[in-house]
Amino acid sequence: MYLLNSKEQKMFVGQLRRMVEDKVWPRAAEIDEKEEFPWDLKKIFQDMGLLGLAVPEEYGGNRQGHLYTCLAVEEIAAACVSSSLIVQGQALGWEPILIGGTEEQKKKYGPMVASGEKIISYGLTEPGAGSDSGAMATRAVKKGDRYVINGTKCFITNGPVADLITLFAMTDASKGVKGISAFVVPAEVSGFSVAKWEKKMGIKGSPTGELVFEDVEVPAEDLIGEEGKGFVYAMKTLDTSRPVIGAQACGLARGALELAIKYAKERVQFGRPIGNFQGIGWMLADMAAEVDAARSLVYQAARMVDENSPEKSYLSACSKLIASDVAMRVTTNALQIAGGYGYMREYPFERMMRDAKITQVYEGTNQIMKLIISRELLK
Ligand SMILES: Cc1cc2nc3c(=O)[nH]c(=O)nc-3n(C[C@H](O)[C@H](O)[C@H](O)COP(=O)(O)OP(=O)(O)OC[C@H]3O[C@@H](n4cnc5c(N)ncnc54)[C@H](O)[C@@H]3O)c2cc1C
Repeated sequence: MYLLNSKEQKMFVGQLRRMVEDKVWPRAAEIDEKEEFPWDLKKIFQDMGLLGLAVPEEYGGNRQGHLYTCLAVEEIAAACVSSSLIVQGQALGWEPILIGGTEEQKKKYGPMVASGEKIISYGLTEPGAGSDSGAMATRAVKKGDRYVINGTKCFITNGPVADLITLFAMTDASKGVKGISAFVVPAEVSGFSVAKWEKKMGIKGSPTGELVFEDVEVPAEDLIGEEGKGFVYAMKTLDTSRPVIGAQACGLARGALELAIKYAKERVQFGRPIGNFQGIGWMLADMAAEVDAARSLVYQAARMVDENSPEKSYLSACSKLIASDVAMRVTTNALQIAGGYGYMREYPFERMMRDAKITQVYEGTNQIMKLIISRELLK
């Protein structure tokens, strides 16, 4: 909390920390074990207004700056990354509408997203188009006042439970990424189906789905903003959401660090707490310093996003790259400190280590983060 500079932010974090302690920690292991979407926690987050953190007040939300989404996700992820994806996913799905949508679209969708009445997903990735999202095969063809959409999206967070999908599709393949457009598609529409609910290594309580669109018809008014601007909305959205993944990684790393400190104070070997061995004490010191360094970077990136700074793409990519690598190292070392017990599912260390891995993969892999960073450096 010492890295925050306003009383309001500290109060917000304090309130979240109490909720996480009471409601999220007791559920975290069970959510992972049963691989279930925590509807009970979704309701709690909804009642606390956490699903409207990315939606401005005039569209029914309570957006006070991007940093607040980061803070909420960080606190929840300290106990359960799967649950933190409820807040993160809602912001991710909504952001293209905020960035590119018309006033009518923001007024139409803002309140239902902010209240949590509707879960919204972000549908960019396809089986043949991951890092290279411009290679997408999904097509949207205009017929009169409607678009007809055909294609498959994969690995979509909250896709299997979503009410709305922000979908990216080619409206003019001859133009490459300039031929990509974005749409809001309701999951109840005819021709939409969830083809697969993925089984994963971690974040098992976060539903990840393959979504199929077969002759799905959407009215032209559900085209987000302008035709051909979808790729720009998609990339600008990722600039805003990468610090959130950084925050998720920091929260997770901090959660694992706190458990490791507790364990190192309690576990006695050779007649003294293992934390008293310099080898363990220095591991903890490295972990703490790395978490704080990553967190400073994440907060700074979130502030840059709020200010719409020209450095926002660079710093967002840096924050996600650094924080996710820190989360992987810190959770691995936390497990190491807990020794054999850390490897057992009875303790949260192995879950945290499994969950950390995804932060290096989604929202653009860390190789793609380096591509963005080096492009910014060399341009
Ligand atoms: C659990 C989960 C949830 C997800 N949620 C969503 C979601 O909500 N919405 C959504 O649209 N997508 C989502 N994704 C997709 C995610 O963003 C992609 O998996 C990611 O962008 C990588 O794409 P890929 O898996 O196809 O890997 P690929 O692009 O096939 O990459 C394979 C490997 O090659 C490397 N690579 C690729 N290109 C380059 C290059 N130019 N230089 C160097 N290395 C390169 C990659 O870093 C990676 O190591 C999710 C993924 C997962 C696993």
